Amino acid sequence: MLRVTEIFRSVQGESTHAGRPCSFVRLTGCPMRCVWCDSEYTFTGGERMEMEAVLARVRDFGCRLVEVTGGEPLAQRAAFELIQRLCEEGYEVLIETGGYVSTEGVDERACIILDVKCPGSGEAERNHWPNLERLRADKDEVKFVVTDRADWEFTREVVARYDLTKRARAVLVSPVWGAVDLPQLADWVASSGLDVRLQLQMHKQIWGAQARGV
Ligand code: SF4
Repeated sequence: MLRVTEIFRSVQGESTHAGRPCSFVRLTGCPMRCVWCDSEYTFTGGERMEMEAVLARVRDFGCRLVEVTGGEPLAQRAAFELIQRLCEEGYEVLIETGGYVSTEGVDERACIILDVKCPGSGEAERNHWPNLERLRADKDEVKFVVTDRADWEFTREVVARYDLTKRARAVLVSPVWGAVDLPQLADWVASSGLDVRLQLQMHKQIWGAQARGV
């Protein structure tokens, strides 16, 4: 059984897969409490669903790409089996994880999109650093959500410490929606000398920051 907040079809809004048709399975619950969290509605509630029912919904959408997200999807043990089943059915599977739970044991066919929590999130102490050492350069991506200059400096330091531009397929730098001066952030990225990628959340630009199920 899985506890599920929503299952929907949309376009992928983030990562190097942005713009692609994608089915999303958003699982309920998260052990973190980032101060800028945009998905607090996943913390509680949700619907208990059989694995087969979740897989059937994904099949109905007909997208080759599937993202398992949350909340923190890996906080549910059954998520590991869901990921495996999706991989076995031939989907290209993305896992959006907040970086607190170990990614060890995730089906190796799935792509990890790993958040590193910056100080401005209030949760930087809870980063599970061994996750960074498991990143694979051919498929995994790492994301820093930046709220201010201190977060940007933290991002630069962690990228250097773990050699992330070589260790990951992409290093994504994303603003806290509505909190960061975008031209300023773009300038920090442009002048960094780092092979990192500024990303804006495409789904929020299309449907607005409050929309759900998109
Ligand atoms: S890890 Fe993600 S879902 Fe959990 S509190 Fe942080 S932003 Fe929200």
